[in-house]
Amino acid sequence: MTTLVWFREDLRLEDHPALHASAQSGKVVAVFLVAARQWASHDLGIHHAGFLGSNLTALAHDLGALGIPLEIVSAPRFRDAPQALFALAQTHGANAVAANEEYPLNERVRDSQVANYLRDRGIRFQLHSGSTILGPGQVLTGTGEPYTVFTPFRRRWTSHLDTNAVRPLPAPDSQGPPVVNALDTAALGLTETPISTQWPAGAAAAAQALAAFTHAAIRRYDRDRDIPSITGTSRLSPYLAQGVLSPRQCLHAALDANQGRLSGGEPGIETWISELVWRDFYRHVIALFPHVSRGEAFRPEADRVPWRNDPAELDAWQSGRTGYPLVDAAMRQLANTGWMHNRLRMVTAMFLTKHLLIDWRLGERHFMSHLVDADFPANNGGWQWSASTGTDAAPYFRVFNPITQAERFDPSGDFVRHYVPELAHTSAAATLAPWRHGVTGYPHPIVDHAFARTRALETYRKAR
Ligand SMILES: Cc1cc2nc3c(=O)[nH]c(=O)nc-3n(C[C@H](O)[C@H](O)[C@H](O)COP(=O)(O)OP(=O)(O)OC[C@H]3O[C@@H](n4cnc5c(N)ncnc54)[C@H](O)[C@@H]3O)c2cc1C
Repeated sequence: MTTLVWFREDLRLEDHPALHASAQSGKVVAVFLVAARQWASHDLGIHHAGFLGSNLTALAHDLGALGIPLEIVSAPRFRDAPQALFALAQTHGANAVAANEEYPLNERVRDSQVANYLRDRGIRFQLHSGSTILGPGQVLTGTGEPYTVFTPFRRRWTSHLDTNAVRPLPAPDSQGPPVVNALDTAALGLTETPISTQWPAGAAAAAQALAAFTHAAIRRYDRDRDIPSITGTSRLSPYLAQGVLSPRQCLHAALDANQGRLSGGEPGIETWISELVWRDFYRHVIALFPHVSRGEAFRPEADRVPWRNDPAELDAWQSGRTGYPLVDAAMRQLANTGWMHNRLRMVTAMFLTKHLLIDWRLGERHFMSHLVDADFPANNGGWQWSASTGTDAAPYFRVFNPITQAERFDPSGDFVRHYVPELAHTSAAATLAPWRHGVTGYPHPIVDHAFARTRALETYRKAR
């Protein structure tokens, strides 16, 4: 029995249910399909692609050490996947194809087309649950409905795990002498970029980063996680997004550091586990509410907001020239590093949607194309939360004041000074509101906060 194990957003050997099950039942050939045109239509950018290329290189090496060959094939659109997989199955005499589930709509349509096509040709297609801690459908209300609010979801999620512990699966045993899996990332269009190489690739690097975080900083996470000038969060998101690390591995490491406790124990650890629950929650939303994958607001009434079409203001936001230093520093952090601190993702997303009243979908696309950790469920969830259009959305009348946010989370101005060289030599007070301190050479705010807040409240109120 030979199974093709189709790797997608799960570029690892450990805690890979499809690989684990397939290796137990016979020989395995690993497969990765490069869906360049489809990814472009999903707005995935060059840094994501570069990091993918590096992680695939590491995966090729890790698989080779276990004697597992890796086939990398171009299948530009998802609709090309069925034929590509069938051809590979024939080449390798495989009678099954296995993969871990992905939840966005296009991915699910692709998988059902693959299943039908292969079944008609005598090949089984098996899906396993491997990209969440608890899969969609495992956490439902008492009446069997999906949750649309996070806190009760988390309560149910915790009580489920309290009685049904999950353990990450080990890597499969070696299936023979080592093989060399060569790949040419440039030919595949997955060339590293200066930004993507800032993240050491591969499962060993990811495991090291997880161990370092859960050894120390996790204990201060509840206090440090909102301060962008320090490394107070794990920065594991690029590994989780491409599945170099599984969420169960993360949970397991956190539980080890917390005497096995999901709740209680160290506040820092409990808070961090809660972020892993957010990750699961947004995957449940994507799986159980397909309209969200079609670019629609989770709440239909939110699609009545008359978004402004203002290319100049959109450009000022994208390039970090709004005149609000915290917003600008955050947007430049994104441009320079391919990553942005969570607090600032909320601040910048609210600024675009509330201060500028520009459609959240334009911001969502900009983030997708620039983030190394681009992840459709988390990105869509974060944008809809910030724009007050989503499941657990911030109430529409919550409009973060970018100056107050800077006073609370960057009072020394260190973060702003690091990313906004025009303000590198100014006082802490001047980094909050340079126009009040006679700073020259830095833009004046493109919109007044009080005016923008009133305009947003009126517009949202009318739309409802
Ligand atoms: C507008 C907006 C867009 C976002 N886009 C993305 C995205 O494309 N990719 C992405 O991985 N996250 C996204 N997030 C969620 C969050 O900002 C990042 O996961 C986090 O900043 C990553 O840093 P970290 O690894 O240090 O996180 P930590 O604070 O250490 O958290 C650990 C892990 O939990 C998960 N996580 C944390 N917060 C969230 C959250 N709010 N929603 C879902 N998962 C979460 C991530 O996998 C993260 O790596 C977005 C949030 C907002 C508000």
